[in-house]
Amino acid sequence: MTPDLNAIIANLIEDLAEIQESKQSQMGYRRAAHAVLLLEQPITALIEPGADLPVIPNVGPKSLRVIKDVLETGRSDTVEAAVDASGQRTAIDWRRARRINFLSRARVIEALEDPRLGGPRRADYLGDLQMHSDWSDGKTTVAAMAAACVERGYRYAAMTDHSHGLPSAHGLTRDDLNRQRAEIDEVNQTLGDRFCLLAGVEANIGLDGSLDLTAAELGAVDLVVAAAHAGLRVPGDQTRRMIAAVQTPGVHVLGHPRGRVRGNRHGIEADWDLVFEAAARANVAIEIDGDPARQDLDHAMARRAIDAGCVLALDSDAHAPMELGFADIALAHARLAGVPSDRILNCWPLGRLLDWLGRRG
Ligand SMILES: [Zn+2]
Repeated sequence: MTPDLNAIIANLIEDLAEIQESKQSQMGYRRAAHAVLLLEQPITALIEPGADLPVIPNVGPKSLRVIKDVLETGRSDTVEAAVDASGQRTAIDWRRARRINFLSRARVIEALEDPRLGGPRRADYLGDLQMHSDWSDGKTTVAAMAAACVERGYRYAAMTDHSHGLPSAHGLTRDDLNRQRAEIDEVNQTLGDRFCLLAGVEANIGLDGSLDLTAAELGAVDLVVAAAHAGLRVPGDQTRRMIAAVQTPGVHVLGHPRGRVRGNRHGIEADWDLVFEAAARANVAIEIDGDPARQDLDHAMARRAIDAGCVLALDSDAHAPMELGFADIALAHARLAGVPSDRILNCWPLGRLLDWLGRRG
C-alpha cells in the first residue's frame, strides 16, 4: 500500500505542537493533528484536481502548509526547520520513534475495504474478547455493553474487567468476580440464544511474570486475558517475564503485549519471537488491541506472531459502548498482516471458541 499520508501529516503537526511555547498554540496544533488523524478519507482523495487544499475543521494555515509540503515532497522541510530552531530535536526524535505503525482512521477504512488484502472482514468478526464495564474502569454496565455488542451484530463477547492487582482501575476481588458472574448469567438469560456473554477477566502481569489471581480464580472464569500495566518503561529485556505469563496455566490471551502508547512509550522490550513461540506452544492467543493509542500489536509484529504459529485475538479494549468500534483498528492491522480468519479467535463460531477455551461439556 502507499504510505499513510494522513498519519505522516498528523505526526508532523504533532511535532509542531510539541515545540510550541504557549499552551494555546500547542492545543491548536494538537487539535489539527487529531482532525487529520481522524479524517475518513486519505488527504489525496479530498483534493479536487487543480483546486486548493481542502478546508478541514480545526486545521489552520500553518498546518495546511505541512499538508502541502507532504503532498509535494513526502516530508516537511518547514517542520524540520522549526524543530531544529527549537533546539528540541532529540525530544522530537524520541516521540517519532514511538509513533511507528499507528494507523490513521483513513488507513483503517482503506485496509478494511481493500480487496487485495487477505484476512478477516467486518462480517467475519463475531465478537469482542476484551472490554470493560463499570465493575472496574469502564463507563457503563455489563448489560449496556452486552446490548451494544448485540446491536453490532456480534454472536458473543467477553467481559474482561481488571483484577484486583490493578487498584488504579478498581480491579475486582474474587468476591466481585463471583457477583459479576451472577450479573453476566442474568444478561445471558435475558438475551437468550442469539448472544453469549462470557465471564472473563483481565489479569495483571506482575514484574516477575506472575499473575495477581490464583489458579482457582483463573479457573473460575471463562476467559483470561493476561496483560502488563507496570514496568512498561523499564529499560532492558523482559522476555522471561512475558514467557512466564504465557506459560501460566489458565491464561488464554496475552493482552496488549507490548504496552506501548502512541508518542509516549515503546512498552516492553523483549525477544518477541521467543515470546510468540512460547505462546504458540502454550496455545495462548496474542492480542491486537484496537485502542487507537495502543494498536498493540501492530501489523508488522502480528505477522511475526503468525509466523511463530500463534492464534490471535482482535479486541477493542472498549471502556464504553462507542469504543467497541476500536475493533476496526485491530481488524485493519490483521488484514495488513494478512492473517487468515482461521487464526483469529473472534472469527470462530461460538462452539469452536468454547472448545478452545476448555469451557464446553
Ligand atoms: Zn489493560
